[in-house]
Amino acid sequence: MSANDAFRIAVLAGDGIGPEVMAPALEILRKIEKTSDLKFRFTEAPAGANHYLATGKSMPDSTVRLCDEADAILLGACGLPSVRYPDNTEIMPQVELRFHFDLYAGVRPARLIPGVPSPIVGADRRGIDLIVIRESTEGLFASMGKGIVTDTEARETLVITRKTSERLFEFSFRLGVDKANVFKAFAFFREMFDAAAARHPDVKADRLYVDACSALLVKRPWDFDVMVMENMFGDILSDMTAGLIGGMGMAPSADIGDRHAVFQPCHGTAPDIMGQGKANPTGMILSAAMMLDWLADKHGLESATEASERIERAVDKVYADGIKPMEFGGRNGTADIVKAVLAAL
Ligand code: ATP
Repeated sequence: MSANDAFRIAVLAGDGIGPEVMAPALEILRKIEKTSDLKFRFTEAPAGANHYLATGKSMPDSTVRLCDEADAILLGACGLPSVRYPDNTEIMPQVELRFHFDLYAGVRPARLIPGVPSPIVGADRRGIDLIVIRESTEGLFASMGKGIVTDTEARETLVITRKTSERLFEFSFRLGVDKANVFKAFAFFREMFDAAAARHPDVKADRLYVDACSALLVKRPWDFDVMVMENMFGDILSDMTAGLIGGMGMAPSADIGDRHAVFQPCHGTAPDIMGQGKANPTGMILSAAMMLDWLADKHGLESATEASERIERAVDKVYADGIKPMEFGGRNGTADIVKAVLAAL
């Protein structure tokens, strides 16, 4: 791949505020196209609760094929609380894609952008800049659709495999979070983390139980760099770290496998604010920047690294200049934020 070839990007806007935050991210990428040697070919495809309502499927086979052939996948948000399978679970093509393409590393950076208010006292001075790495294909989510419920009890099985854990730790080396004092599965997880730690003596490794970790995260978030953990723990703690840096709308993410990767904000479809122009698109825009960084790494393209950094700098400038999303009490809706980021670019 050279800078002259167009990157094929599969675009799954999804439901709720998904399309509302996807449109700004595409606008930003089109601006990048005009001001760099990068080219993109965006192809939109259906997935989510609305598609399920229309067809009875969470996404068509053509969407999966498109994702398979794409250089990267951008996803808005999928699922609506009011639309459910007969077993009462939500429509979650984003989780299906993680299984289908073996996207085991869920990378969720939480950086407090100067100018954004954090609920943590002292965070504006000390900063927050950490990454939660959520294993994304097994753990408690391995039970998805397979749980057993009777009149008297419910069972869901947590799965941790050597193959995925070893790849995960190689990917993400630094600070492990588990519950190894209570569950054997996490003792197994920890054993593989320790083995990875021994292979990376240059990196300072530490381990924490997830409950103690939650308390520490709100007391001293600046002490954390990279945290790697089981799927469900990562689901919960990454929402918490999003809260630490201003809110769900600020947090980007990537689900990365050995070949494919999906880039989407940490947040869901936010039905409470959909259609009102209130959604904060920052997490989606920063996810697009993560996509460029991943493509840069994969294809050795310096210009994609530069473009990713330009988007981050533009977002930082907009917050330094005082933009305040409605998400945390400000007056700026989706359109204001996109306009400001485009201008800063
Ligand atoms: P999921 O389980 O699909 O991740 P969720 O149930 O955790 O979704 P979200 O859809 O992320 O919920 O919404 C949680 C809260 O955060 C809601 O009050 C929503 O309005 C708010 N929120 C989420 N994303 C944004 C955004 N981009 N801008 C503003 N507010 C947001």
